[in-house]
Amino acid sequence: MRNPEQTATISEICREHGITPDGEHAYRVQSSSGNGEYVVRFVGRGDCGETLWECNCLAGQHGRECKHVRAAIAVNNEIKDTVGWE
Ligand SMILES: [Zn+2]
Repeated sequence: MRNPEQTATISEICREHGITPDGEHAYRVQSSSGNGEYVVRFVGRGDCGETLWECNCLAGQHGRECKHVRAAIAVNNEIKDTVGWE
């Protein structure tokens, strides 16, 4: 479980990137057109230990790594470095 300090740090990092935390290892990312937002979710790890994510945008549904996923990975890495997530 996170402590309140971690939760505050996570919120702050997300806000800097314009992303909303959505539970454990999931993020809501604004669409670039400004029409709503997409949900990017951590789904596991690949063979090389890389994190795998899924996004509910059109590209994501076709298995492509979209910019929402890249944004979530960047935020997640920053959070990981800051609060020591796995
Ligand atoms: Zn996407």
